Amino acid sequence: MTANHRTFLVFLGPPGSGKGTQARILAEKLGIPQISTGDLFRHHIRNLTELGQLVKAYLDHGELVPDELTIRMVEVRLAEPDAAAGAILDGFPRTLTQASALDKLLEAEGGLDLAPLLEVDDAVVMRRITGRRLCRKCDAVYHVEFNPPKVAGICDRDGAELCQRADDKPDTVYNRLYVYYKQTSPLVGYYYAKGLLAEIDGAQSQEEVQDALLRVLAERGLTNSGLRVTLPPA
Ligand code: AMP
Repeated sequence: MTANHRTFLVFLGPPGSGKGTQARILAEKLGIPQISTGDLFRHHIRNLTELGQLVKAYLDHGELVPDELTIRMVEVRLAEPDAAAGAILDGFPRTLTQASALDKLLEAEGGLDLAPLLEVDDAVVMRRITGRRLCRKCDAVYHVEFNPPKVAGICDRDGAELCQRADDKPDTVYNRLYVYYKQTSPLVGYYYAKGLLAEIDGAQSQEEVQDALLRVLAERGLTNSGLRVTLPPA
């Protein structure tokens, strides 16, 4: 692997599998950005952009935003300077159309390097997502059971009120799971056939999942390209 190789990872897994958290931690270690299409859409909605207004209803109902809009947004984001060394994609692709568009976008870069799949049971997903709370002001993430704030309903960092994402309510979570199995799970076979899939038990602790990810990266020779990674003991 050459020093100027761009490293691209795609995180797969149902909503609530810990993709966002793991992608964020790993991205920091690798010195490349985490690109979450869900976060990008929410940013557009909050800022009342044209795209935000187009996509709001899809997000509120847990439905997928049309491929064309999503692919274009990712294309623009990947061209930004902070992605010069690569990126970790979290929540994209979610359809086979998006996956093949990504392959085309990365063709000149030597393609995708790895697709870690975080496997988690539906019951765990429901518990993780429906207990999740966000700070209205700084977006800090809490969980009523697993990571509660010091004072219920209040952010530890800035004292702002915590809220629940509209799409984290049980009915919408069921729909997001349905959409995942129907539209996104075929990507597991897609990346398996390309030899890029790395299955990881997402029910382990946050640290264990991260260690497993770093081991897979090392096995695939993705840690010797000048990226800042310290390997955990075997
Ligand atoms: P997330 O934060 O990844 O769970 O995404 C939240 C919502 O954003 C999803 O339920 C979809 O409405 C939308 N979304 C995020 N990523 C995509 C994508 N790759 N394709 C279509 N819609 C997406």
